[in-house]
Amino acid sequence: MFIGHFGLGLAAKGIDKRPSLGTMLIAVQWLDLVWPVLVLAGVEKFTIVPGNTVLNPLRFDYYPWSHSMLMAIVWGVLFAVIYFIITRKTRGAMLLGFLVFSHWLLDWVAHKPDLQITPFSETRVGLGLWNYKWSEILAELLIFFVGVVVYLKETTAKNKAGHWIILTLLLFLLVIYLMNTFGPPPNDVNAVAWVGVSQWLLVAWAYWADGKRV
Ligand SMILES: [Zn+2]
Repeated sequence: MFIGHFGLGLAAKGIDKRPSLGTMLIAVQWLDLVWPVLVLAGVEKFTIVPGNTVLNPLRFDYYPWSHSMLMAIVWGVLFAVIYFIITRKTRGAMLLGFLVFSHWLLDWVAHKPDLQITPFSETRVGLGLWNYKWSEILAELLIFFVGVVVYLKETTAKNKAGHWIILTLLLFLLVIYLMNTFGPPPNDVNAVAWVGVSQWLLVAWAYWADGKRV
C-alpha cells in the first residue's frame, strides 16, 4: 500500500482543513517514516524476495516497532498529543492520531500475515491484498483519486503556483506508484530504506503546495 495512504491524507482535508497537507502526510506515512530509520539502524529487518507477494517483493521479517498494531496505536496517541500540545486543537489532534493508525489498517489489508499484533507476541496478521494484483491496484487508485477530488474541492489555489505545485506532486506520487508496481524489484535493502527516508521530500513538497492554497 503506497498511494492509498496518501489518498487518506488528502481526503482528511474534508474533515479538518487546519492541518497542512504536509502534516497529514507525515501522519498517514508515519509508520513508513519510522521503518527505514529502524532498518538502517539494524533494528528491523526485511529481505527482497521477488514473488513474496504478487505485487510486492519485500518480505517483512521483523518490524514490530514501526508496524505492530499496538505500536501503531501508541504512535497515533503520541502524534495526537504532540499536535495538541503545539496547537491546542482537539479535532485536528484526533484526526491526525487516527491517520497514523489508518496506516496500519491499510497495511493490514495489503500485507500478507506479517504484521505483529504487539512487539511481544508472535501472532501475525494481514489479509494479503497484494496477492490480488488488479484488486489491489484498483482499491489503491480509488482511495487516491477520492483523496485528490476531496482535496481539490476543499482547497483553492491562491495563485498559479497553487495549481502547479500540488498537481506535480500528485502526478509524481502516481508515477512512483506505477514504477513500484510495474517496475523491476529493487536489488538492495539499504537503497530501499534510503528511498523510504527520502519520503520527507514528499512531505516538504506537500507543505509547499498546501501553503499556496487556502
Ligand atoms: Zn507501512
